[in-house]
Amino acid sequence: MTKLENYINGEMVPPTSGAYLDNYDPSIGEVYSLIPDSDERDVERAVLAAKTAFPGWSNTSAEARHDILMRIVSLIERDLEALALAESVDQGKPVSLARSVDLPRAIANFKFYATAAMHTANESHDSVGQNAINYTLRQPLGVVGCISPWNLPLYLFTWKIAPALAAGCTVVAKPSEVTPMTAYLLSKLCSEAGLPAGVLNIVHGLGPKVGSAIVAHPNVKAISFTGGTKTGEEIARVAAPMFKKLSLELGGKNPNIIFADCNYEEMLATTVRSSFSNQGEICLCGSRIFIERPLYERFKKDFVERVFALKVGDPRESDTDVGAIVSKQHFDKIMSYIDLAKAGGGTILTGGRMSELPALAGGKRHAVDGTSIETSNVRFGEAPLPPAYAGGSDRLGGWFIEPTVIEGLPHDCRTNQEEIFGPVVTIMPFETEDEVLGYANSVRYGLSATVWTENLSRAHRVASKLESGIVWINCWLLRDLRTPFGGMKDSGIGREGGFEALRFFTEEKNVCVKLGN
Ligand code: NDP
Repeated sequence: MTKLENYINGEMVPPTSGAYLDNYDPSIGEVYSLIPDSDERDVERAVLAAKTAFPGWSNTSAEARHDILMRIVSLIERDLEALALAESVDQGKPVSLARSVDLPRAIANFKFYATAAMHTANESHDSVGQNAINYTLRQPLGVVGCISPWNLPLYLFTWKIAPALAAGCTVVAKPSEVTPMTAYLLSKLCSEAGLPAGVLNIVHGLGPKVGSAIVAHPNVKAISFTGGTKTGEEIARVAAPMFKKLSLELGGKNPNIIFADCNYEEMLATTVRSSFSNQGEICLCGSRIFIERPLYERFKKDFVERVFALKVGDPRESDTDVGAIVSKQHFDKIMSYIDLAKAGGGTILTGGRMSELPALAGGKRHAVDGTSIETSNVRFGEAPLPPAYAGGSDRLGGWFIEPTVIEGLPHDCRTNQEEIFGPVVTIMPFETEDEVLGYANSVRYGLSATVWTENLSRAHRVASKLESGIVWINCWLLRDLRTPFGGMKDSGIGREGGFEALRFFTEEKNVCVKLGN
């Protein structure tokens, strides 16, 4: 069985403890590789390596940093298929999604910051009347910590390390222990690309052991974290008294507001995507769908029909829409929220159950009205697999949940207030703009929101009143990497993206020069 290794000081090394954790393929529910169970000793080695590498890397020209990051891009492009498959096996997402979204975005992250490094400039202020000039240096912070979650593993991992490296920092990074595979493969590519030893260090293991040791280490100057709000609170509690810079990208419970005058077909197709892409395990998915009353019944019928038609299946099948839930623990959490919704009086319009995939092959599914319908045979295992992986058609017994649509719940019940982070959405009617804004803003989170309307004034008015770091009007997940990305309220602090991220990884120093007479 493949044993992953840490990447410390340019070398692939086992954990100091010699112990390993199980890594599951969620589509078969079985262990397929082993992850280093690292601890504070490994973090100590990684921080030392990063500290030693810092003077060299921070004094490397922007052009040289650009060249190395672009070599990493070429290697990811070369290995795109293998990386996409690895992401799919590790996370449970359809390989088609990994191929079309996760990998292209990892490439874009490196490209964006490789080139940004070449285009950053510092400000100067001509202090006319004082016979002086001020200029502001932005100097890399030193060793920084990057901690990422399991839902978009390589996509979010590179979203942090690319700007840190471009800014001239050295990095100690921890991917989620639930989905470590592509970060491990990336470490090999970084070596191949000639990234100097110690510039990037990747330590695998558990959050409370490895993540917390990175956060608490006095030589780590900043923490860039994406994950749950509860973990963010814990990180802030430790890092804030140490005066570390903090970027926290946390949970969400995003509203999707649909007015009756919207472009219906585009809204419908996008809403299916914004609800169930990546099994709903994207922090930007719209999980609370508000529909203006005159459109409610039509939307409900069409939406449920389309959701019911989504194919839940083997993540390696090219026509799979919804893959496996990332872990048994997360599967149980989502199912408990479905039970909660039922207990609270919610009506399940479609889904609501575990998907029994082996039984699905050539079998039956239940239609919305409870009658049975035939499904086409589910085909398995045509894609090439990593050598360690021995899954097959008779073993697809992992953690699958049918895309679930619920109605009849009030906006302030727990199902509509707490983050579920799975293939579960609620639909609710509304009468007026003020009413829906009240519903939308009633949660503790404020990450993203989507608004569907052809009324230009209303679109801008609603956008300005939404308590949300990101608002999409008549679209979803349309990303321009130059724009600020992040959440309000309990969805976090700080913004990633564009020059914001480069600024985060640098410290300003103002120099005031008195000019001679
Ligand atoms: P977690 O908060 O559980 O974990 C995120 C990362 O932090 C993991 O690498 C985890 O390690 C690590 N970690 C756990 N405990 C600690 C600790 N005490 N100190 C330092 N690090 C720690 O989040 P999930 O992985 O479950 O990801 C899902 C969450 O991420 C959702 O809430 C989602 O909304 C949010 N998210 C937010 C995004 C945004 O941009 N705002 C984007 C994507 C996701 P380990 O895996 O070992 O537990």
